Amino acid sequence: VTDARGDSSWGEFDLVDAICRRTDAASDVVAVGPGDDCAVLHLPGGGWAAVTTDTVVGGSHFDPHADPLEAVGFKAYASALSDVAAMGVEATAGVAAVVLPRGTNYDDARRLEAGLRRAAERFAAPLVGGDVTMGDSPLVLTVTAWGQSDGSVAPLLRSSARVGHRVLVTGELGGSLLGRHLEPEPRLAFAAALNRAFTIGAAIDISDGLAGDVGHVMKRSGVGAAIDAARVPVSAAARQAAERSGREALWHALHDGEDFELLFTAAVEEAGRIVADPPLGVPVTDIGEIVEGDELTLRHEDGRTERLNPRAFEHRMGPKEDR
Ligand SMILES: [Mg+2]
Repeated sequence: VTDARGDSSWGEFDLVDAICRRTDAASDVVAVGPGDDCAVLHLPGGGWAAVTTDTVVGGSHFDPHADPLEAVGFKAYASALSDVAAMGVEATAGVAAVVLPRGTNYDDARRLEAGLRRAAERFAAPLVGGDVTMGDSPLVLTVTAWGQSDGSVAPLLRSSARVGHRVLVTGELGGSLLGRHLEPEPRLAFAAALNRAFTIGAAIDISDGLAGDVGHVMKRSGVGAAIDAARVPVSAAARQAAERSGREALWHALHDGEDFELLFTAAVEEAGRIVADPPLGVPVTDIGEIVEGDELTLRHEDGRTERLNPRAFEHRMGPKEDR
């Protein structure tokens, strides 16, 4: 792929942007087309369904020789469910398609399935079908999941952040590579309860890292954001990661991916009510505000500000020498 400037180095966001511009979403059944955590479809009777699909590839997203296949299956299913949670509903069910490298042994294939089923059971979203193929390829696993609402609540979209909203996150961030990334806990029950009990602006699950995912919300909502450094909930794992990397723990909380926490926005008073009495007792932290413009700013306690680049952490594609 070469772009108009003759640049053959491109990122996954470039391709997704191009697809989102060209996909025809002008159908009566489509409520929300490409570009959010899920597509949203109208259901007969006034309800809606949120559907997502996600692929992991051995050697790119996991190490087929080191990562247990049970864990790979669990993570793939749970991370798809996290995209459903980002829409403010519980997950209904999922299906999985797998391409097994030729020569895969039977027990390993069953371990992959066991991981999918463990996630399906844990998060009450049954695995209801799929497809198994063999190929001359690495292991490829695709999970499609959906959730549905009777229409009593609206789906939470990336595009609904408004200037003056507070930015809130669940749990603690950073350092997921030290172990938590293999055992994601999608915030399904929390997100559904939050959507029922409060008026929420935008929402997204944190998979690309806090800065990257705030960036997705900014772009879809046409706003900027200012994050207060001292308010970011830094996990113990982020502090451990910092000891190893020599970076600040805050850096890991801002940029490490795969936290699978929920990030959302709400008007000031509503945000205060949520932080004071969050659904299901899940810890929620107010970390900053939505502002005018298109910049993501980090505000330090001493008044210093720095500009963060939310796009710095996408996976670069295209020929290696052009990166
Ligand atoms: Mg997502």
